[in-house]
Amino acid sequence: MRPACEVADVIRGLGNDREQIGLNSHQLRTLRAIELCRTPALGGHVDACDGCGHISISYNSCRNRHCPKCQGHKREEWIAKREQDLLPCTYYHLVFTLPQELNPLALHQPALVYDALFKSVWQTVSQFGRNTAVQLGMISILHTWGRT
Ligand SMILES: [Zn+2]
Repeated sequence: MRPACEVADVIRGLGNDREQIGLNSHQLRTLRAIELCRTPALGGHVDACDGCGHISISYNSCRNRHCPKCQGHKREEWIAKREQDLLPCTYYHLVFTLPQELNPLALHQPALVYDALFKSVWQTVSQFGRNTAVQLGMISILHTWGRT
């Protein structure tokens, strides 16, 4: 069932104003993809039942990584799997960001850079529990701007 209001509806509500709010071209393309996702603008296909003749029209999805329609089910599946791993304790969400200057190195030597990133993150996080009786753990996720 379609929700009363989708992200695409909010984007459509911006109209041409979105061009004036200081977004870069990548952000504008992303908004456009979300706006057009699963609409006739992206094309589609018609399925017909051989038995009863029922016709179903399906519009193509944008496949943009930021689109809640395209990625929503993957996010929900991922969250459900992570919830199975949760322990009855307090969790904190921490974000560590690589300096932009390291992007070219990360593109050419991703294993080297990301391994160093995760090791340094763990070294930093584990320092907080060094002098306490608290046992720390970490779930780490690499969030890149690429699709994979
Ligand atoms: Zn989409």
